[in-house]
Order: sequence, then structure tokens, then C-alpha cells
Amino acid sequence: MHHHHTNPTHNTHPTRRDFLRTLLGTGLAGVTVLEVSFFRAVLARAQSPGAGNNLFDIHKVVDGVYCAVAKPAAMINCNAAIFENANDVLVVDTHSKPSAAAALIAQIRKEVTQKPVRYIVNTHFHWDHAQGNSAYRKAFSKLDILASEPTKRLMVRETESRVKAQLEQIPEMVSQAEQNKDKAKSAAEKVFYDEEIRQLKAYELEMKNFSLELPTITFEDSYVIKDKAHDLHLSFHGRGHTAGDVVVLCPQKGMVATGDLIHGFFPYIGDGYPREWPGTIDAVAGLEFDRILPGHGPVHADRSRMAHMRNYIEELTERVARGKRAGKDVGELQKTINVSSLESLAAHGYGDYLAENIVQFWHYFGTHVELQESVNTNIEHIYQNL
Ligand SMILES: [Zn+2]
Repeated sequence: MHHHHTNPTHNTHPTRRDFLRTLLGTGLAGVTVLEVSFFRAVLARAQSPGAGNNLFDIHKVVDGVYCAVAKPAAMINCNAAIFENANDVLVVDTHSKPSAAAALIAQIRKEVTQKPVRYIVNTHFHWDHAQGNSAYRKAFSKLDILASEPTKRLMVRETESRVKAQLEQIPEMVSQAEQNKDKAKSAAEKVFYDEEIRQLKAYELEMKNFSLELPTITFEDSYVIKDKAHDLHLSFHGRGHTAGDVVVLCPQKGMVATGDLIHGFFPYIGDGYPREWPGTIDAVAGLEFDRILPGHGPVHADRSRMAHMRNYIEELTERVARGKRAGKDVGELQKTINVSSLESLAAHGYGDYLAENIVQFWHYFGTHVELQESVNTNIEHIYQNL
């Protein structure tokens, strides 16, 4: 996911009770028990802002493989996949800021292992997956940072200007949170917005003098780490969410970490290759694995959400391409390509599932965003990137 605040936002402010009803109400056809428990956990945290100091919930997936699922935050953090090797550790993705990565390092030491982190992987160049790199550099004397060549190129080209643009948006986000606080109906809600404001200001302060720690090892197609505990295969399968997404496969454990190429949230296509993305997912599907450790959201116990995401991107891209060929502009397409007309969203409750994700994500900002608005953002990005 690529969280951006230029998204048109609506000015309804659901109360926490509405949030509860939306999350746990009857509109969850096709959403699995695992997914519901994820929503419940998200909700519990939303109700007790600042209650837990940890930024992540670390789940043991199998022996030696853990998923640090990011809790909601004002500046979103990605998940980290953690592979415990015989003598060291490999961590996939590093979150939105060095202090978030430092918090995870402390949590790994406490909850997973004292072994040093020897490798980090940046699945792609986005801010919420790479800006914590320097925390690992500081904490561990022997460290390699792994990424594809396109990812390193994009980091060099894009990061500085994007961080600058993002920091310029923070005052506006703070003032929005202050307005939400003024309208808050309960003391708990006020506390919640105070916490959001605190996080935004802390991010601004921390990132003022930020410079990105770049990958030290890059590769074109694949890079294999053979460890006594298991093998770790880093591989590029084509363009998708970005030009350089890689996945990390552990064949012995049947696990693949997929960054934002495959996850249970709404796909962000602003830097994407919509025509190629479904084929890239098909190529990843050719690997042998049982579970997916995604860049955002809960661990996938099977391949179903992967297929739903793939089909949605393919169908929407097809519709946008047809409209563009017929001479229609973005606005016309946003009016005619309705959520209800997309078969890939109707199938298997995928649209409901995405809608819940959107609600819980934007709720953090006191904002309600409809599924159609997110589809419209995808339409715009596909149109631009076709
Ligand atoms: Zn991303």
C-alpha cells in the first residue's frame, strides 16, 4: 500500500461505535475467520490508542518464520517478514522511519531471538518499506541490504523529493486531526486524535534530516542465501506494484514474503504496471508455498486472496484500457466503472473485504472512504500508467 493524503476525502466522521458495527456487522460475506480476527484486533487497538507500546504484533508462522504485522499508525508502517537463520536473521522490509525499525529490532530481541540481523530486504522502493534501513545499519555491525536493481535506481531517483513533498503535507494533516479532535464526541476520541497529532509531529521531526540507507547488494533476477536452517530465494518476476518488486521464498518452510505485489489491501497502482502485474502474480504463483507473508494486513493462509487481487487488477485494467481506446477521459470512466459492475469484486466477497480494509485504514484519520473512491483512484492511476 502506498498511503497518500491527496486522496479525496469525505467529511463524515464515523464514531467508534459505527466503526465497530461496520467491522463486525453483517456485511462480511466471504470474509474468513482469520480475516475477521484481524479486524477485531485492529479494532481493539483503535479503541485503546497508545495502550500498547509495540508497533507490531509478531506472529510465529512456523518454526523460524515470523510475521511482524504492523499496527495502524498515523504514518503507516509495512509488515516485516522475519526469517531466523542458524546464526543470524533476515528481515523483509523496514517501515516508514528509522525509529519504527528500531522498535522492531527491540521487539525481535525480546520476542524472537538474540541473533543479529545480517540481512534486510527492501521488496520495493516505497517509503513505508525502506525508510527504516538506517536503524539496522546502526544496530548491527555486519549487515547487507538487498534489493533489485530497479528498486535501488528508484530509491536514488525518488526518495529525496518524495520525503520532502510528504513533509510539506504534515501541517495540513495535523490541522485536519485537530479539527477532528474538536468535533470528537468522547474523551476517548480526543485522546485518539491527540495520539495521531503526536505521531505526525514526531514523524516530521524525525524525518527532517533523513537520508536513505541504500541497498548494498542488488540483483537482476535472483539472489539465493543458503543457510543451515533453510534457503532463502530472493527473486524478481516482472513488473507489478513497481518496476522492481521482489519476493522472498523459503522453500523448506513453504513461505513467501511478497511486499505490496500481493497483499489483502487495496492495490496502489500509482507507480504500477497494470498490464504486467497480473502476469507477475501468475509467475509468483508458480513458486511452491503454502502461506503468504504480505507487506500489509494479515498472513494469507492460502492463495485465494492472491487470486482475487490478480483478477481485480486484470479486470479493471481491461475496462480502463477499453475506455481509453474509445476516447473516454478519466472522469467519464470513474462514473461508468462502478463497484457493482466489477465481477472480480463481487466474487468471493473480495469487494466486501477490501471495503473493510479501507474503512479501518482511513478511520485512523477520522475519515470514511467508500470502495468506489478507491476504485476511482485505481482507475486514474491505471489510465496514467497504461
Ligand atoms: Zn508499496
